[in-house]
Amino acid sequence: MENNQYYFDAYFDFIKFVDEKISALEQIHSKYLVCKKKCSSCCMDTTVLPIEFFSILSAVKSKNINISVSKESCSLLKKSLCQIYEIRPLICRTHGLPLAYGQDDDPLSKSVSFCELNFTKRIPAFKDSNILDMDELNIELVRLNEKFLKSYDGELPERMELKDLINYL
Ligand code: SF4
Repeated sequence: MENNQYYFDAYFDFIKFVDEKISALEQIHSKYLVCKKKCSSCCMDTTVLPIEFFSILSAVKSKNINISVSKESCSLLKKSLCQIYEIRPLICRTHGLPLAYGQDDDPLSKSVSFCELNFTKRIPAFKDSNILDMDELNIELVRLNEKFLKSYDGELPERMELKDLINYL
């Protein structure tokens, strides 16, 4: 896996770029966001692309991750806190914010969704400057994943269960 460090670094550079966008959006919408520590209502078991899975694995410092399988929440939650918070995947970083996705039948026409706990007082007018374009981010993530897969020696599934991290520690 050390040979793949180049791809993991590229992935974490991408995450840094995403975090900067998120931070700017959090400032813009600070009055309407209630996301806070120990709010884990959006934490459900999820699958990720192999580049995310193995980058996260490469950065997991603690081998003391506990997996508690439950139908109600993500297996990586412990006492309502994410055990891999600093290196959580894209889907977890962005959830809650106004996210724009192209429609299947019209990719250029975007629909915006956000956590129902947010924007309860008022829904602002969404425009390019106050939303996160998830199509753009996902295109970049898929590009990074394809490069990683080309270099990877072996077969990998299209998506991997995040809770399976435990099997590699
Ligand atoms: S990985 Fe962390 S942030 Fe993502 S769903 Fe699981 S507990 Fe929540």
